[in-house]
Amino acid sequence: MTTESRQRKAAPTWLHEDEPPSPDWAEQVRALAAERDAVILAHNYQLPAIQDVAHHVGDSLALSRIAATVPHREIMFCGVHFMAETAKILSPDKRVLIPDAAAGCSLADTITADQLRAWKAEHPGAVVVAYINTTAEVKAESDVCCTSSNAADVVAAVPADTPILFLPDRHLGAHVSRVTGRQMHLWPGQCHVHEEIGGEVLAQAIADDPSADVLVHPECACATSALEMAASGAIPAEKIRIVSTSGMVDEARRAGTSRVLVATEVGMLHQLRRVNADVRFDPVDPWAVCPYMKMITPTKLLTALREGRDEVHVDPEVAARARGAVERMIALGSTTQGSTSQGSTTQGPGTPGAPGPGAG
Ligand code: SF4
Repeated sequence: MTTESRQRKAAPTWLHEDEPPSPDWAEQVRALAAERDAVILAHNYQLPAIQDVAHHVGDSLALSRIAATVPHREIMFCGVHFMAETAKILSPDKRVLIPDAAAGCSLADTITADQLRAWKAEHPGAVVVAYINTTAEVKAESDVCCTSSNAADVVAAVPADTPILFLPDRHLGAHVSRVTGRQMHLWPGQCHVHEEIGGEVLAQAIADDPSADVLVHPECACATSALEMAASGAIPAEKIRIVSTSGMVDEARRAGTSRVLVATEVGMLHQLRRVNADVRFDPVDPWAVCPYMKMITPTKLLTALREGRDEVHVDPEVAARARGAVERMIALGSTTQGSTSQGSTTQGPGTPGAPGPGAG
């Protein structure tokens, strides 16, 4: 989709669904969570109202690791289904809920366990590195997981003479290949939201304000263009960074410029603005909206807490094998950033919290 056609598009419908259904919605949500002994976790791409009411906000792995350590009986995961599954994998004894189990992920859907088994059969002896954006069944067929913040470390830890199957995101895979110098077999998957943030969109945003710093998520189609622009001198190299969502939060905390352009899903802007109110954070592409993330609305969260649904189940045998891939990643380290805490669960709704520990 071109920049011009994006500008002509009508405002996305989720903008109308961000409104809490009543003035005391946040109080109701926190009270119900306390009644259920539930901790509310929200991904960085969730609607602002959901992020504000959650006890913890962060990326998928950070939240799953928090889920595994909090004392609560229930986890209410405001994100997409594979994230809630990961929480269940790491917290098999807890009840994991998601406000809408139909909230999927176009990237996770690009590869099934059957497809991975067939790919492995073509490359015997290869190590399978799976991005966290995968189903439990695909994780169970993988050797080690990774996130966008530690993918290079995970790949670098694989012996140099061992072939690597990297899945499912081809843009992240290409970025990791550049960083590590490793040739890998890349699964041709992509997220339809990040795929739309292409080089043309990025170039236009930079041309509109060459003084702004630029943060680019490695899932974006423009990640290669960003590096080419820096290499050609079209933008000073120090003004552009390819970073994970947790890396974006770190960059926001120390940003010394007046404006930062951000290439990822627009929900991320809410956290960046919270951690540094002195900087103006704007999207490279204001239409980069994940329709799955925005399926989790304030009304659905309230209903889910009232009715105790939708429960997420993962087959125990699949979960055990998937847990091995996730734990091998965690054992490699560099997964200790990536979330902000809204304070303890006894605090009031929407209480702004100091940045807290987490994992990325
Ligand atoms: S933004 Fe892309 S990768 Fe993230 S949940 Fe949505 S579809 Fe999946």
